[in-house]
Amino acid sequence: MSNPFDPILANSKFREHLSKLSTSIEETGGWPTESWQAMCESGVPDWFLPEEFCGNPQSEMTKQFGYLELAAACLTTTFILTQRNAAVSRILNSDNQELKNRLSRELARNESFATVGISHLTTSRQHVKDPILKATPTNGGWLLNGEIPWTTGAEAAEVIVTGGVQPDGLQVLLALPTNLMGVEINPAPKLLALNESCTTSVSLKNVEVPKDMRLIGPCENVLAAGTAGGVTTSALALGAAQKSICGLETEAEKRPNLRDSATELRTTLDRLKESVRKMTTSSDTSPSAEEREALRKQSNSLVLRAAQAWLTASKGAGFLAGHPASRAVREAQFFLVWSCPQNVMAAALAEFACVSISSS
Ligand SMILES: Cc1cc2nc3c(=O)[nH]c(=O)nc-3n(C[C@H](O)[C@H](O)[C@H](O)COP(=O)(O)OP(=O)(O)OC[C@H]3O[C@@H](n4cnc5c(N)ncnc54)[C@H](O)[C@@H]3O)c2cc1C
Repeated sequence: MSNPFDPILANSKFREHLSKLSTSIEETGGWPTESWQAMCESGVPDWFLPEEFCGNPQSEMTKQFGYLELAAACLTTTFILTQRNAAVSRILNSDNQELKNRLSRELARNESFATVGISHLTTSRQHVKDPILKATPTNGGWLLNGEIPWTTGAEAAEVIVTGGVQPDGLQVLLALPTNLMGVEINPAPKLLALNESCTTSVSLKNVEVPKDMRLIGPCENVLAAGTAGGVTTSALALGAAQKSICGLETEAEKRPNLRDSATELRTTLDRLKESVRKMTTSSDTSPSAEEREALRKQSNSLVLRAAQAWLTASKGAGFLAGHPASRAVREAQFFLVWSCPQNVMAAALAEFACVSISSS
């Protein structure tokens, strides 16, 4: 049987290159042109497209372990890849064959970059009464008004996959060309970490989106239609944890008193990687929402603890802004807010407050 990790192992040189670039992108700031170009040239983005669109599809396990290893090399560039792939998967799920064919081919050839701005339909602004992005049907398509609160790589994107709410309450998912009149990509605000992902909001004023850019809907809960949902957020958290654990292990080589902590964290990482392996190899069933949620809670906990352990071992030197341990601590916080469902949030809060909750 061929080793399912082959495509990842074959990319070890690329991972080293990405890791080197990762050090410099935070200093340079702005969109990470070089590391994103390297990502495209590595062929990894092709793993997420079918052969009919010139892709090079890989198993779910290879894709998730690929994410994990790449996140350990450069979290920012790998995160950008996940947002591009989230757009790709929505496009592939579309029943609009013509649009699907055109966009998928352009994406496969890296002729264009697509990203998602869909959090306002899932985890962002859910407490606000009025939808923040309204889509009014017109004879020619939809008129968009409002805001996309979060879009990674908006300034680099030709297309943003986004969703609006119609006056009848139904949602529609659209491929929004960023060059349409009325689309304003706001300057990226300064973040705690991952600034080079150039994540920002997009304002939309009377934007006329033609009918032929419709991806899915109008329907209720448009994001539930045909989506895989998966272990990606956990895979990235485990990759970031792995980087911290490797850092701690390097410190422990010279300091035996650090070894027990390093061993314990490594054991947890291995156990969670085994969970990812099991969840992505089961041939007949995809992992349940409960399984995915349990993995996410534990991966979030591990990435935070591993980064703090590395910082503790690195002492004051690790507290310097340019030290990789201090960056790991900042980057670990990202998993507390990125695509974080209510139950995962509750588990984190319970852990911080040292209280037990029955579902955790
Ligand atoms: C670096 C980064 C990159 C991201 N990239 C993308 C992307 O590419 N695409 C995408 O779709 N999403 C993206 N997201 C969005 C992300 O997945 C989450 O949706 C987002 O972090 C949710 O945070 P929010 O502040 O929008 O949440 P909100 O729930 O809107 O909270 C905003 C504020 O409202 C208040 N509030 C919250 N709930 C309540 C309540 N019940 N009652 C009263 N007040 C309340 C709080 O003060 C809170 O600070 C990104 C996020 C980050 C941080």
